[in-house]
Amino acid sequence: MTIPFNNTASSRFLHGFTDLATLEKNGPVVVTQGEGIYVQDTTGKRYLDANSGLWNAVAGFDHPELIETMVAQTRKFPTYHAFFGRVPEPAVALADKLIEVSPFDRGKVYFTNSGSEANDTMVKMLWMLNRARGKPERRKIVTRVNSYHGVTVATASMTGKAYNGHFGLPLPDFLHADCPHYWRYGEAGESEGDFTARMARNLEDLIHREGPDTIAGFFAEPVMGAGGVIPPSKGYFEAIRPILRKYDIPLIADEVICGFGRTGEMWGSDTYRMEPDAIIASKCITAGYFPMGAILLSGPLADDIMDVSRTIEEFPHGFTAGAHPVGCAVALKAIDLIRNGGLLDNVRRVAPQFNAHLARLAKHPNIGEARGIGLMGALELVADKALKTPLPADLQVSERLANEALRNGLIVRPLGASIVLAPPFISRNEDIDAIFQLLESSLDNVLAKV
Ligand SMILES: *Cc1c(COP(=O)(O)O)cnc(C)c1O
Repeated sequence: MTIPFNNTASSRFLHGFTDLATLEKNGPVVVTQGEGIYVQDTTGKRYLDANSGLWNAVAGFDHPELIETMVAQTRKFPTYHAFFGRVPEPAVALADKLIEVSPFDRGKVYFTNSGSEANDTMVKMLWMLNRARGKPERRKIVTRVNSYHGVTVATASMTGKAYNGHFGLPLPDFLHADCPHYWRYGEAGESEGDFTARMARNLEDLIHREGPDTIAGFFAEPVMGAGGVIPPSKGYFEAIRPILRKYDIPLIADEVICGFGRTGEMWGSDTYRMEPDAIIASKCITAGYFPMGAILLSGPLADDIMDVSRTIEEFPHGFTAGAHPVGCAVALKAIDLIRNGGLLDNVRRVAPQFNAHLARLAKHPNIGEARGIGLMGALELVADKALKTPLPADLQVSERLANEALRNGLIVRPLGASIVLAPPFISRNEDIDAIFQLLESSLDNVLAKV
């Protein structure tokens, strides 16, 4: 039986990342089931989810093989931990598989329940390593303005967003370098090449200012996701990579969104030649069917951890549910579907059409920039295209557009002045067309009213 949601009823569910005052007026969308790339709410209304849930439901919402795998593993062995030298069998296989599909020829994998926990754990590993090496002052973590790395105390400090000021964050020792978004931050007359060179120069200046011997690591998303789908400026990673090497600062690729095919390659690191020392994975690792995060350490970093653990005996860290057998089994299946079951091939097949729609919309008078790669994209709304001036914030055009799209049966996400799209990897050409048709008619309706 479905119970219609009563908008006036007070709900005991506390929503995160939600405008609670507006929610009180409109009520939540209570979702009950899914079919392919569509989800359905308690009223029976269907929505095409052009965001793959939260970037992660890349195989859709009812994939039979993923569900079968979860059921089978649950029957066989539904729970265990990975402390004190024990480990559930599927976790061993998944660690092997992740190194096999990683850019590393060897390495080790550590499992968590989320992307935040994986980034947070990586920070602790770097701190532990540096203390054991007699360099306890090497503690500072550098990320970038507009980056998103999670919500724990450390990872919110890493995230380059103003809202973390509400918590009195970032903590000391968390620094934010420039955001390499050429369209937004390029200066008048500055070429993209010059902009990239300036980004690299500024990073080296920051390293000098702080002291290279105080910096533990540099974390970067290949494409900034929650910052509004911001691909790096041309040549960015090639320009900063030698600088990080010069000062012995590890580069950690936060692949929580890009990993497992979103950019059209297995890793965003491949797309942008990042050559990372470690990879943070989550979201698509289980196609969203189970909470899981992972740290993939390259061979040399894994060796360092082993060396240190000989002096302090153990890595005193772990999550009770980390390396969960059901999560690991479903991750093995998801990775197989992505690599061998046609999902990554399909991303490559439909991405040109997705990006052609974006390129077409780039000509719209109220779209300042339409950017994207693979199956991730964003449309940034402006009042004046040439001056790149945003629409007045109080008009809340991106929120209204997302709400109008929702009414029309399309789920998209407003992010600042942008609308973000990240369709599931199973999307067909006609699904991509449907997304843009619904989005454009919604955009016309909203713009006609403001
Ligand atoms: C979502 C996200 C995280 C945080 O993952 P959670 O599972 O929500 O903790 C970290 N980094 C990036 C790039 C993300 O997109």
